[in-house]
Amino acid sequence: MRCLVTGTAGFVGSHLTERLLDAGHEVIGVDCLVPYYSTDLKWRNVAPLLERDGFTFIEGDLVDIELGPLVQGIDLVFHQAAQAGVRASWGAGFSPYIRHNVIATQRLLEAFTHRPPRAFIYASSSSVYGNSPLPMCEDTRPQPLSPYGMSKLAGEHLCTLYNQNFGIPTVVLRYFTVYGPRQRPDMAINRFISALLRNELITVYGNGGQSRDFTYVADIVTANLSAAECIDTVAGSIFNIGGGSPITVNALLSLLGELVGRTPRLRYEPVQRGDVDHTGADCSRVARALDFVPSYALRDGLAQQVAWQRGLEEQRERRIHPVTQPLTHASSKQLAVRGTSRAPRILLYSHDTFGLGHLRRNLAIAGRLSHALPGASLLLLSGSQAVQQFVLPLGADIIKLPTVTKLGHEHYVAQGLTITPSEVLALRQGLILETVMSFKPDLLLVDHAPLGMRGELRPALEYVRAHLPQSRVVLGLRDILDEPAVVCRTWREQAVYAALETFYDRLLIYGVPDVCDPITAYELPASVAARTSFCGYIRRDDPITPAADVRQDIGLGADEPLVLVTAGGGGDGMPLLEAYVQALRLEPAGWTSLVVTGPFMPDAERRRLEKLCCGLSSVVIRPFERDVPSLMHAADAIVTMGGYNSLCEVTGSGTRALVIPRTSPRTEQLLRAQAFARLGLVDLLLLEHTTPTDLREAVKHAIAHKLDRRGACQTPHPCLAGVTVLQNGLDRLVPILVDLTPSVAVQAVREEGALL
Ligand code: NAD
Repeated sequence: MRCLVTGTAGFVGSHLTERLLDAGHEVIGVDCLVPYYSTDLKWRNVAPLLERDGFTFIEGDLVDIELGPLVQGIDLVFHQAAQAGVRASWGAGFSPYIRHNVIATQRLLEAFTHRPPRAFIYASSSSVYGNSPLPMCEDTRPQPLSPYGMSKLAGEHLCTLYNQNFGIPTVVLRYFTVYGPRQRPDMAINRFISALLRNELITVYGNGGQSRDFTYVADIVTANLSAAECIDTVAGSIFNIGGGSPITVNALLSLLGELVGRTPRLRYEPVQRGDVDHTGADCSRVARALDFVPSYALRDGLAQQVAWQRGLEEQRERRIHPVTQPLTHASSKQLAVRGTSRAPRILLYSHDTFGLGHLRRNLAIAGRLSHALPGASLLLLSGSQAVQQFVLPLGADIIKLPTVTKLGHEHYVAQGLTITPSEVLALRQGLILETVMSFKPDLLLVDHAPLGMRGELRPALEYVRAHLPQSRVVLGLRDILDEPAVVCRTWREQAVYAALETFYDRLLIYGVPDVCDPITAYELPASVAARTSFCGYIRRDDPITPAADVRQDIGLGADEPLVLVTAGGGGDGMPLLEAYVQALRLEPAGWTSLVVTGPFMPDAERRRLEKLCCGLSSVVIRPFERDVPSLMHAADAIVTMGGYNSLCEVTGSGTRALVIPRTSPRTEQLLRAQAFARLGLVDLLLLEHTTPTDLREAVKHAIAHKLDRRGACQTPHPCLAGVTVLQNGLDRLVPILVDLTPSVAVQAVREEGALL
């Protein structure tokens, strides 16, 4: 038979395609690789199919591709394509459900009205029942509890009406929660197993007493084939397909714990909207009509899924820790992007219109990526004047965009060149686009500004979407940008929400939800929220210069206290440095101060600072330091502004810090410093409320604290224990980026072989 499988790259679709090919059928598989979850996983699903005879893959969206030629000569249709997921279907996330579940289904049915296939099998869901009494039987009036369930029910109605009006022999199969290898990563069993394998905390929504009728994927496939075989007697029918052994979530977790060999660590959260309490299929109708009974016991099916996820986890570990399993230069060269042999290419963009933070962060990420993906090409696009000051990681290069200076809200002027603001914008925009067109990155990582400075990134993002369909685009977002109301208003005005939906495969938050949750604060639409994850705070790798060497370089004795004073990039650091020097002038200090002004401090201000320090013998002023983490580690106290990188590095250093944040024009530094101070990670001082005496006392207190820590008892600071803020987000971020780089994913598929 000539079969059409829609959603062929998805969880169920890929299994079904495999079984049809095994049975000797010809399969046309269609999928548009909706980025609801990692499209690399979908490529992993489809890659082994591509190598099989009788399989043709069409990457296309049922909503807009020409369906006439596609449906030509098709005997059997298995319509699996859908926007899955209950939780993402609320609010602004609803429109993809209408698009993929209703419009796509209607178009596909319509395309068959002239020549109906022998059978049209539609994948529906137990979600159509909502909280119906158990066991759920096909004659019960469906009352979905979620927009997703409603959209699947709409698809059912479309099948019925095309059956009645055009004689298309449709069969609706209501799947009850499907599981097994390749299960979607958003589904509970997948999340539970991953967390168990990684020994992470498991979030359970509700009290765990809710139950589900889990169905093994091979049984779902069998039901599809049986429905097609028996179409003459069952056209127009609706059947439940359940696994036959409903189980509560708590019992499921115990069983998974046994299979993985680890006790689950659980955290219970409120029930999520749209989640039903219990599901349980009455399968008597399908047993009679199709002679279908589920043949996989839950324990056996779960063991299969655990084995599959364990394999994936081991591969992931190998990619994260190449030291234990080195990827040689030669093997990295073999990384292939769907047929064309080349090493991965990653482009990291940061607009760098103010300060050093963006560039520093992207350099830290590039540094780790160069270890994780030896042989990969890492290209940075940056507008920072300070690019030459940094050492690039192996395999990296940088394209310098003309530098601009920010004069006010959305007002940027060229810094060196005598050209107009619109000319410098056009110049940067053109360079970015040209870079994307020539470099053809597999992965584009954008720092902070979804559309770049004044939208300069938009043409490049449009180009990627139109011409580089396999490339992945990721936005790395600091946890706090500004007051939520300001961010939401700006994003609405600049159509950023639409850009997030259209251009970005993933959003990675450089922070932790305990400090700030931008998903809620910045009102991310559900469809974007579903693609968003938290990575933790990104900071450069641990100090590399021993504290003794740092102190020797400054000429300090072993017991002489050192206070590091940093003003970030230095563009607006003068008020902090002035206040600090005034505090020093009150009386002779019992410590040495290393003052790092930052490269962007205007010369006149630097000269003024030097004058202010005249006569203070224990002050060393330096314009720029490459290795700030080592200085922080060596210092006994830190006085710093509240820039993102500074705070992340402070928390990694173990040294007490007084944070004096910038409070205008944006409140980002203030909000983050307040949150960190609430967690006891830093001390917060506001310049306008701090006298020189206060500042001096606070410095003394911080030094005493550090000296205590060096003392015999070595008691850790109580506030620094066990807070996730302290973990370096690079540990989470880089594996995600590696997974998202398509060339790596495809290579992984080839290595995986038998596992799939
Ligand atoms: P999945 O997301 O893994 O697969 C669906 C695939 O359809 C995706 O690869 C997606 O890219 C593709 N797709 C979506 N819209 C498309 C379009 N317009 N054109 C082309 N391709 C498109 O989901 P799954 O878990 O394999 O689910 C398969 C089917 O089973 C869906 O219809 C789903 O509603 C239904 N279902 C699944 C479960 C379950 O537990 N997995 C339960 C009940 C029903």
